[in-house]
Amino acid sequence: MSIHPAPHPKGTRARVLLTSVFGPYAQDDPYGSRAINPMELYHNQVTRLQGVYSLRMFHRSWGIMMIQENISAPSTVLDFPSRERFIEELKAHPYDVVGITSIIVNVGKVAEMCRIIREVSPHSAIVVGGHVTAIEGVERMADADHFVKGDGISWMRRYLGEDPAAPIRHPDIVSGFGHRVMGLTLPRHMGATAATIIPSAGCPMGCNFCTTSSFFGGKGKFLNFFGSGRELFDVMEGAEQRLKVDSFFLMDENFLLYKKRAMDLLARMEKAGKSWVLYVFSSAHAIRQYTMEELVRLGVSWLWMGLESPRSGYDKLHGADTVKLTRELRAHGIKLLGSTIVGMEHHSPENIHEEIDHAVAHETDFHQFMLYTPIPGTPLHAQMKKEGRLIDVDLADIHGQFQFNFEHGAISREDSKRFLDLAFWRDFERNGPSLFRICRTTLEGWRRYKFHPDLRIRRRFEAEMSALKHVYGGVLWAMERQLKKTNEAISAQVRELRRSLVDEFGLRARVASAIVGPMLWWTSRREAKRLARGWTYEPETFLERRNWGY
Ligand code: SF4
Repeated sequence: MSIHPAPHPKGTRARVLLTSVFGPYAQDDPYGSRAINPMELYHNQVTRLQGVYSLRMFHRSWGIMMIQENISAPSTVLDFPSRERFIEELKAHPYDVVGITSIIVNVGKVAEMCRIIREVSPHSAIVVGGHVTAIEGVERMADADHFVKGDGISWMRRYLGEDPAAPIRHPDIVSGFGHRVMGLTLPRHMGATAATIIPSAGCPMGCNFCTTSSFFGGKGKFLNFFGSGRELFDVMEGAEQRLKVDSFFLMDENFLLYKKRAMDLLARMEKAGKSWVLYVFSSAHAIRQYTMEELVRLGVSWLWMGLESPRSGYDKLHGADTVKLTRELRAHGIKLLGSTIVGMEHHSPENIHEEIDHAVAHETDFHQFMLYTPIPGTPLHAQMKKEGRLIDVDLADIHGQFQFNFEHGAISREDSKRFLDLAFWRDFERNGPSLFRICRTTLEGWRRYKFHPDLRIRRRFEAEMSALKHVYGGVLWAMERQLKKTNEAISAQVRELRRSLVDEFGLRARVASAIVGPMLWWTSRREAKRLARGWTYEPETFLERRNWGY
């Protein structure tokens, strides 16, 4: 691993290409793509068994965007290229440095890209970063000059002869793209309503399976880009103005853990009258530092929380009644994404059903299920290796949605996948489509806060309700009819919610049901047929140049 290599001889005059690995991704191929592991966060591991109701969207490769924004060399970001587009870019410009970012499953693509660079652009220095560098012996798998583990920004700055500790500039990142719901691709302006802000990387909680935490130093450590509420406010305000958004996806593994920063941000939001909407990640014990009133004033609208397992013993869950907590949060209009691990050490074929039922009983708006997976670089991987329990499987299959990569005391590899799918099915069957659930929680929040004396809070709930007033009547109309044959109980709940929308918004909701509903009913049926034929979706390619006039 390159910690502090000699700087590149051209310094900030070096021409830099920063790229993600090539697609397509949602297919089985010899480079390590897997149909079961598409480049869609939600469809991959949260809503994947929800059929036409699955939330489909892509997210950019934030690491290379952050690096590009923080170096002064002429640079290009090439995100989601095809293999051919990557070669074309290498031939078109004499790049001095080519940086590739990748996760572990794509190590085969990294190796192929290094091979291509040596052939097409032999003078380029090759730098590999991202989670792929956590693989023991990665140096023997891919022919790169440098493998960078952890903070790529300071590494690249140092390599180009710049100050590695200079303040971080945050790029403008639209939170997602290519949104698709019930067979309909949303127009760009409807999908791109939030900015992604990355206040820090890593997490000091150090759960044994967590790749992000171990990649940025492990327990007790993390990388802080914006440590104060003031800095964060300034970054958010800048994004608000340039991207014309008022919602922020705060990509901090445990945002609410740092209460001083969050409360300082709140004070600044209140002073400036900002009705911002925040989507955050937080552990249960961090959430409990706040009153519901504080969370609502802070604009927390959506929370991703690790539930793991009631008997897991992780510090972040210590003393938390997560079922009670999730109910309370939803009652305040805070949408929840719960995350549960299937196949922990104490799980067995006898108790796994009870554990899954417990997870489903949280009735979160979304639920991620992942297999307990020793990923290279984590304490769990080191432990399994020491105990001789790792199974020799292709690295491309170690992503938590396929089968165990270790010998479990009570559950076989085949059964691990069966139980994982069962968890997704049970959640979908018992709680219905996530689209329905978020509508219900949003309405609950609106009813509670629509007459709140604080204008900032009223405005936020009003903004969140606006989509419900206009479109959701139609979404629910189509859903109610489609689910009638397959899940009568959920269909009845959807009907009740649709009627509540009509009670609340009268004519507008009725018109939406009458116009949007039949259209979505038709697009959903078409989508269901496509999915049955094996249709998949791929992200578009992005090319962004900076300081290019050099
Ligand atoms: S709390 Fe979440 S982000 Fe932090 S170490 Fe644990 S799993 Fe990772």
